[in-house]
Amino acid sequence: MSDALSTRLVHASGPDRQFGGVHTPIHPSVQYAYEKVEDLIAVFQGKSKGSFNYARQGTPTTAALEAVVTEMEGGIGTVSFATGMAALSALFLTLLKAGDHLVTSNRVFGNTNSLFQTLEGLGIAVSRVDAGEAAAVQAALRPETRLVFVETIANPSTRIPDLEGIGTLCRERGLLYVVDNTVTSPALCQPRRFGAGLVMNSLTKTLAGHGEALGGAITDTGCFDWSTYPNIFPAYRQGDARGWGLQQIRKKGLRDMGGTLSSEAAHRILVGAETLTLRLQRSSDTALTLARHLAAHPAIEHVHYPMLETHPEHDKALAWFGSGSWMLSFELRDPERLVDVLNRLRLPLKATGLADTRTLIIPVAPTIFWEMGQEARAAMGIAEGLVRLSVGLEAVEDLIADFDQALAV
Ligand SMILES: *Cc1c(COP(=O)(O)O)cnc(C)c1O
Repeated sequence: MSDALSTRLVHASGPDRQFGGVHTPIHPSVQYAYEKVEDLIAVFQGKSKGSFNYARQGTPTTAALEAVVTEMEGGIGTVSFATGMAALSALFLTLLKAGDHLVTSNRVFGNTNSLFQTLEGLGIAVSRVDAGEAAAVQAALRPETRLVFVETIANPSTRIPDLEGIGTLCRERGLLYVVDNTVTSPALCQPRRFGAGLVMNSLTKTLAGHGEALGGAITDTGCFDWSTYPNIFPAYRQGDARGWGLQQIRKKGLRDMGGTLSSEAAHRILVGAETLTLRLQRSSDTALTLARHLAAHPAIEHVHYPMLETHPEHDKALAWFGSGSWMLSFELRDPERLVDVLNRLRLPLKATGLADTRTLIIPVAPTIFWEMGQEARAAMGIAEGLVRLSVGLEAVEDLIADFDQALAV
């Protein structure tokens, strides 16, 4: 019998082995000492599982968090990082080399798109396609294509790629399929069911949910056959091939690049993760009620939210996630009123960031998508007047009343 996610989440970590503390302790120690030098040697040679040597490669606290994420994603292992971007950088920089090619969506998170530009400068080719159709991904494939990368729900457009079709394509071609699960989190979606080999979660967002810690994680789902992947260093091509990819990400990515999650941040994320299902249900319900209200409001031109019947991928969102998560975006009928309307809002904080307990609001084009310029925004389907809302835990009646007064002429 397998317990529901909400049950497993509160029992996934602790009690601690030493004193029986119910919650996982914070381990600040950088160094780990051993009674006998043979034990230290065994740790360095990977022969002593679950042991630690130097905190840049992990601590008992980060390991506890990694075990929780692995459990949530139904995977075989996880490596945690200081931020979601550190996780993505480590993944791409350790698995790709000059001459390789990857296919991604033309709607990915702005900083991820910026990271892809850095990869292009290093001689890694990137194709950005409309991932709503697996056929577009297929048409972009080349002999040197190493992986396909998409996000479950695009930020801020809320568009959803053909996760299933792309998964089938990757399986048929033996390609590594990497899915950024940040907006949905494993509570709404386990990308392994679409055949994703690696899953990225920005722990900063849905998983922690309180906006008080940064973190990122890469989980290996066990779906990908690493023995077929050309870029695994000989040192990691040993033993069970299922562990090769994550081993390389941990050694070449976490150890050598050093974007390590602190034990303090891991602890804060663990505390937040325990309430994941409750928070996500609440903010998804609020987001849908608010999305419906705004869609019917005469001052609003368009609302983007996966659970609205007007959303282009509504059926897929319903079938795959069952609920729409905390992010919605909208455009005003009169874009000239944008600044005034946002200033009149009392509850949503004018701030970037996502999945806080507080509702956050930001006009997209002049802020988070400013650096790329108008042409690139248009290519990504970002309207100049688009506003992104990260729905928090406030009562929906209060948010509706606030929007009504701010939108009133
Ligand atoms: C925020 C975000 C990231 C980056 O995560 P950080 O923890 O802020 O570095 C990556 N992908 C998506 C979809 C995000 O929303």
